[in-house]
Amino acid sequence: FSYPLPANEPVLQYAPGSPEKAALKKTLAELKKKPIEVPMYIGGKTVKSGNKISMHPPHEIAHTLGYFHLGDEKHVKQAIDAALKAKQAWADMPWEDRAHIFLKAADLMATKYRTYMNGTTMLGQSKNAYQAEIDSACEIIDFLRFNVHYLSEIYKQQPISSPGVHNRMEWRPLEGFVLAITPFNFTAIAGNLPTSAAMCGNVVVWKPANTQVYAAQMIMRILKEAGLPDGVINLIYVDGPTLGSVCFAHPDFAGVHFTGSTGVFNQMWKTIGENVAKYKSYPRIVGETGGKDFVMVHKSADPDVVVTALARGAFEYQGQKCSAASRAYIPSNIAEEVKEKLVAEIGTMRMGTVEDFSNFINAVIDEKSFDKIAAYIAAAKKDKKAKILVGGKCDKTEGYFIEPTVIEAKDPKYVTMCEEIFGPVLTIYVYDAEKFEETMAILDGTSPYALTGSILAQDRDAVVLATAKLRNAAGNFYINDKPTGAVVGQQPFGGARASGTNDKAGSMINLYRWLSARTIKETY
Ligand code: GLU
Repeated sequence: FSYPLPANEPVLQYAPGSPEKAALKKTLAELKKKPIEVPMYIGGKTVKSGNKISMHPPHEIAHTLGYFHLGDEKHVKQAIDAALKAKQAWADMPWEDRAHIFLKAADLMATKYRTYMNGTTMLGQSKNAYQAEIDSACEIIDFLRFNVHYLSEIYKQQPISSPGVHNRMEWRPLEGFVLAITPFNFTAIAGNLPTSAAMCGNVVVWKPANTQVYAAQMIMRILKEAGLPDGVINLIYVDGPTLGSVCFAHPDFAGVHFTGSTGVFNQMWKTIGENVAKYKSYPRIVGETGGKDFVMVHKSADPDVVVTALARGAFEYQGQKCSAASRAYIPSNIAEEVKEKLVAEIGTMRMGTVEDFSNFINAVIDEKSFDKIAAYIAAAKKDKKAKILVGGKCDKTEGYFIEPTVIEAKDPKYVTMCEEIFGPVLTIYVYDAEKFEETMAILDGTSPYALTGSILAQDRDAVVLATAKLRNAAGNFYINDKPTGAVVGQQPFGGARASGTNDKAGSMINLYRWLSARTIKETY
């Protein structure tokens, strides 16, 4: 079974008066009407722990979207058992039958459930309609379709044979279960991490962030409707330490597919290392973690291009993308113009709920995030080495609202130039326009991360120089564009250094990690 390279799912625009906007509004109203009760899904059965945790839109904390059932150690064990029970039949299922399930799920997301995928993401994660559309509709659909294509290509790869000898490669799944741990910020990542491993014939225990459960349960329901057999993916909600203590001590632990913080990922490596002698095979540890993504501007850059790249790169989805522009190096010759235009541009950004489609900025995910971001801003207000150019107001009375904020740092190593904030805060540093190379050396040595980054320049030599000098500073490098918005099939995504294992999401590199090949030689 071979599946040709698909086209990307077209992005709907939600323009005023458009049918897609009317349909989405209707779903939002329906979702808000009645709180839902969200069970775990273990072995194809819905499981309720009775320990109910409420879910609220981050931009309207007085409203309740529903309750999910928080699990404990027992549920983790049940999920592993259910996965292992489903393993043999799933691995033996013909590839075309397995592929069909994910392609059908993608089609259901593109049609019947598109407004529900977007609606749950908008309300649960405070994402505006367009940001939801490129995530919980297009990107998740693309992940499913492109991965089916890439896996088909992998399965075709075979060694050569010779007279009297026939060689073949059996692309087996891993032995054991895979753990998928997904973050709040992308519904597409929640879809990709469990399904890419499952597609390869693996069985999965999936734990989403508590702040993502509202959209995650939607994905699970759609996969079930598409025909995913019971136990292949088991969706549970538990706290991290409970999950880790059971899964990482289990002899059948085969790998982890993770997106989240560098600190948590480092802790995982440690625990897995301590337990390594227990496992049947060395586990696959695949993770996308933090970022401190940069925009390097050359003196030849067009100031309007700089302003657009910064405004969109830093503030779409309130800066809560791992890829978000969070530090920019602006040359002195255009600094005043860029600052003035950037402040004016940010002044046009409306902030509020997701139901008003004219709001560009919504709320940050939760109180913990709000407090952390607000603390960075409060410290910058007091620090002589920093100046707030625009924004800075934080208000959590109705929702976790933080104004898009630009800090100008007098020192390229100022704390907000170095540390990941994960919110709507951009720090800029104005450098001597003649010190392009020196500034790039500072940039490269400023943060441990290497996820995304941009060079903005009209001078081709500057582009070539930056591309060479910043070779290891980003896994996704953009020339004359913002550093966010990677599209599946077009810009495979991931970074190295403290940003992860760089096993590019939505690519063959990623899928190889969930396969354990057997080479078979037969003589005749
Ligand atoms: N792939 C997303 C982008 O390019 C970022 C993913 C993330 O935040 O982890 O913007």
